[in-house]
Amino acid sequence: MTQDFMPEEVSVFPIPAFTDNYIWCLHNASHAVVVDPGDAQPVMAFLKQHSLSLAAILITHHHHDHTGGIARLVSANPNVPVIGPRGNHIRGITKSVSQGDTVHLPVLSLTFSVIETPGHTLDHIAFYGHGALFCGDTLFSAGCGRLFEGSPEQMLHSLNKFKRLPDDTIVYCTHEYTQANVAFAKAVEPDNAELQAYSDWADAQRNNDNPTLPTDIKTQKAINPFLRSHLSGIQESLASHWGKSPVNDVDAFAGVRRWKDEF
Ligand SMILES: [Zn+2]
Repeated sequence: MTQDFMPEEVSVFPIPAFTDNYIWCLHNASHAVVVDPGDAQPVMAFLKQHSLSLAAILITHHHHDHTGGIARLVSANPNVPVIGPRGNHIRGITKSVSQGDTVHLPVLSLTFSVIETPGHTLDHIAFYGHGALFCGDTLFSAGCGRLFEGSPEQMLHSLNKFKRLPDDTIVYCTHEYTQANVAFAKAVEPDNAELQAYSDWADAQRNNDNPTLPTDIKTQKAINPFLRSHLSGIQESLASHWGKSPVNDVDAFAGVRRWKDEF
């Protein structure tokens, strides 16, 4: 697969929200699209500061910290399209999309395809295009979303869809959970040298008040235990942690997820 990268005039900026959320804002000099606006206030401040008009809102799943700002943003920007999962359970969605659908954002000359990624929630979707993946709470740097609604098998299948994307795909995760995730990843893979180097980099980023995101698929395949649970090193770690070897890849993934839940 070759990548058709983001147009040069489009920037992607993480608007911080709550304690550790990022609301990704894609914008050119005049228009903006935001992903998962859990809170309207920081988005409105960013738009005002940069004199941007809101052109669309993308939603990955129903959790309040990803949807709580929709109503206020729509009342301030009537007719703005709100594109998100099907099911009519998220107030304010004007266009429901599912696996394989295409989302056109003409003001930014962007087109994304929709990838369904059940696991964290059953309605979860991701937006992929121009070498960029907006993955919501499915994938985090060195981690993945908790299984609130889906099964380990569903989540593993969803993450495997991401693993098949080109290595240089930029991954825009929605939470700054990296350092806690890395601490866990090091417990699972104490001998992973790339993970150790990444850990040092992430600490330096946070010490300088910089985000650790976005990341990319290549890095995640090298350091993220949830993308690596099929490897023998992790399976041996699981066997010593749980006192029994995983019987298959789903069992291994579930074992890593359960271990993290208790970490
Ligand atoms: Zn969530």
